[in-house]
Amino acid sequence: MTVRTRFAPSPTGHVHIGNMRAAIFNWLFARHHGGRFLLRVEDTDRERSTPEACRTLLEAMAWLGMEPDEPPMYQSSRRQAHRAVAERLVAMGHAHREDKGSTGRGECIVFSMPREDIVFDDVVKGRLVKAAADLQDFVIVRSDGTPVFHLANVLDDIEMGVTHIIRGDDHVENTFRHIALFRALGAQVPRYAHLPMIVNAQGKPYSKRDGDAYVGQFRDRGILPDALFNYLALLGWSPGDGREVMTREEMVERFTLERVQSSPAQFDLTKLLWMNGEHMRRLPVEQRLAGHMADLERHGLRPSKGELRRVLDVMQDRIKVFSDTAGQTRYFFDEDYPFDEAAVRKRLRKPGVPERMAELGRRWAAAPAFDAATLERILKETAAEDGRPPADLIHATRVAVSGTSAGPGLFAMLEVLGRERVTARIERALRRWVGGGG
Ligand code: GLU
Repeated sequence: MTVRTRFAPSPTGHVHIGNMRAAIFNWLFARHHGGRFLLRVEDTDRERSTPEACRTLLEAMAWLGMEPDEPPMYQSSRRQAHRAVAERLVAMGHAHREDKGSTGRGECIVFSMPREDIVFDDVVKGRLVKAAADLQDFVIVRSDGTPVFHLANVLDDIEMGVTHIIRGDDHVENTFRHIALFRALGAQVPRYAHLPMIVNAQGKPYSKRDGDAYVGQFRDRGILPDALFNYLALLGWSPGDGREVMTREEMVERFTLERVQSSPAQFDLTKLLWMNGEHMRRLPVEQRLAGHMADLERHGLRPSKGELRRVLDVMQDRIKVFSDTAGQTRYFFDEDYPFDEAAVRKRLRKPGVPERMAELGRRWAAAPAFDAATLERILKETAAEDGRPPADLIHATRVAVSGTSAGPGLFAMLEVLGRERVTARIERALRRWVGGGG
């Protein structure tokens, strides 16, 4: 049997990460088994499923590198087929017409559920049972002639030859109805794997109120497609060997539905950013430089490649997304860097510190060499002379030369900035923020 999976989203103009996670699991499963990954656009809601919404969906999939293996099926084009099958179900005695309106105007078609328990073995959730007494007949074609979701969904899965249905566990309840429809139509019931919900830190379904929730938002934030793919793949699945950062190939090789957990998966932005940093580090160096450079240029900064490289060496892995590059490194390339005034008050205006800073600035200006080790030795000596902890001068220097109290190792950073800039910046900061400069 050739595995055939499908992603069956209802386009709304935004692609929620929960939906994309379902797409990713379907894609990985199909690839792992050398099968086919299909797309069905469930665009029967005319108001929401606009051409624009469909385009957004296809773009998000292409961005994540998940092109379907066959042309997408558009559910809206299958209305006639859906109605025809509903008629067949009536003819076979599995459905009947019913007048639900008191006016007698509209007849709908109602599917008759079997009078026996429905049982299925979900690959993730195990055996699931619904007792005959709890099964209710349901409408499959409304009185205005439109087929309902259940009918369209099942018929199209039959038409597409889907063998495995991997989707969110909000569909578990629907599955009992779907199985009854597959059976009534004499079709093979696919295997089901219902994925755990994605939740926020409070264990509630993750929504746009919790932060970025749509694929486009992560793209705009500068997250790499490979990192988002990798991160979403781990929302509910793990390879079992402790690996987290993986290439597509590694995920395809390791992916099994048996290793999908049934308990909710927590979305954690910090972890996604960490993962993005890991994927960034693994990019070919030219591509990495280009990513950082593009952000700098967007912010009006144009260092040479060599300057950028030196700065990145010092920054180590502190920049987790390309779009943070300018924000975190502006002071390396621009004399007009912003000052965090709280840091100025706390670090630079600390009693006794400005005077020592000024002295330190003079000694650095005259230092025999301007390398990290020499700078550190001089700072420690200068601090020790008046029995002050070196940290006072370390913090104050950082604020003076970078405007902020966070950043890479101070002495390596000073070395990259160079003697002239460090000396000038210390003098300028003292003049501007303390007045005089001791
Ligand atoms: N359009 C439905 C959804 O997005 C389809 C679910 C499915 O069967 O995969 O929830």
